Amino acid sequence: MEVIDLRPRGYCHGVAKALHIVKKVIEDDTYPRPIHILGLIVHNKKITEAFRHYGVISLDDPNKSRLELLDLIETGTVIMTAHGVSDLVIDKATKKGLTVVNATCKDVTKVHDAIKTHLELGYEVAYIGHKNHPEPEGILGIDPSITFLCTKMDAMNFQLKDPNKKLFVTNQTTLSRYDINVVLDVLRIKYPDLLFDDDICDATTLRQKAVIDQQPVDLCIVVGDTLSSNSNKLAFVSKHERNINSYRVEGIEDIDPAWFKDIKRISVTSGASTPTKLTNEIIDYLKSFDYNDQSTWQRKSKLTHIDILS
Ligand code: SF4
Repeated sequence: MEVIDLRPRGYCHGVAKALHIVKKVIEDDTYPRPIHILGLIVHNKKITEAFRHYGVISLDDPNKSRLELLDLIETGTVIMTAHGVSDLVIDKATKKGLTVVNATCKDVTKVHDAIKTHLELGYEVAYIGHKNHPEPEGILGIDPSITFLCTKMDAMNFQLKDPNKKLFVTNQTTLSRYDINVVLDVLRIKYPDLLFDDDICDATTLRQKAVIDQQPVDLCIVVGDTLSSNSNKLAFVSKHERNINSYRVEGIEDIDPAWFKDIKRISVTSGASTPTKLTNEIIDYLKSFDYNDQSTWQRKSKLTHIDILS
C-alpha cells in the first residue's frame, strides 16, 4: 500500500504555543498550585491525559460554561485554553484571586478584537460557528447582542434587531469554506451590503488545501480527536470536496484493517491539535501493512505520555 504523507499537517502555531505555556507553568514552581486548565487545553484527550501525569487538572464538562467551571476552582493557577474566553471569565478568575495564564491563540484574539471594534462602530454582529464548542462560547461572551448562526435555517430566520444598523459577519476559525457559505449565501441575499470578515485561520486553510489538492487516492485517514473541529473538517473536506472516502481516528487503536481491502494508495493527514508522534505511528503502521498478512494487522500504540508531549 502506497502511503502519501500530506503536508502541512499536525500542530499549528496556536496549539504549539498553548502546549509550551502549560509545560512552562508545570516547570516553574512560582506558579501557585494546583494547576488547572479551564476546558481542554486543545481538543485532544491524549494530551489532556499526558498532562494529568504532571498533576494538571483539566476541568471539562460539556454542560458547564467556562464561567461555571471557574466555580470549581478555589485556589492556584488557571490556564485559559487556545480557544479563547471572554473578558468576563478573565475578570471572574482574577477576582477569585487565581493566577491567570492566558493561552488563547492570536488568531482567535484577532476575531475577538474585530467584533469589539465593529460593535463600537455601531454594527450589529452575527457569528457563524458550531454549537457546543468553546470558541463560540468565548465570542458570545463579548456582548449579549451577538447573534450565533450555525445553520442555513438560522440564517433564514435571522433579522437585524435594529434595521437601521449595518451587519458585520465573521466566523469560527476552524470551519470549512462550505460551512460558512451555506450560512453566508443566505445572509448576502437578505443583506447585500453586509460586511464579512473571513476568519478561517491560516492553519485550518492550509491543512484543508492540502487535502483538496492531493493526488488521487483510495482513502484518506485523518488523525484527530472526536472533539477537534478542524480534524472533523479535514475528513468532511476529503469527502465533499474531493469525493475521497475518509476516516478520522484518534490513534492507531481506532484503525480497522478491513478498511484496507483493495486499497492501493492512501493519504494521511492530521488536525492542528494532533501530536506528531501519533500520526507518525499510524503512517509507519500503514507502510508495513499487508492485507494478506495478518501479522501486520496488530494495532497497539507504543507511545508514552512523554512521547505525546514531546
Ligand atoms: S487551529 Fe487556528 S485558531 Fe485554532 S489554535 Fe490553531 S492557529 Fe489558532
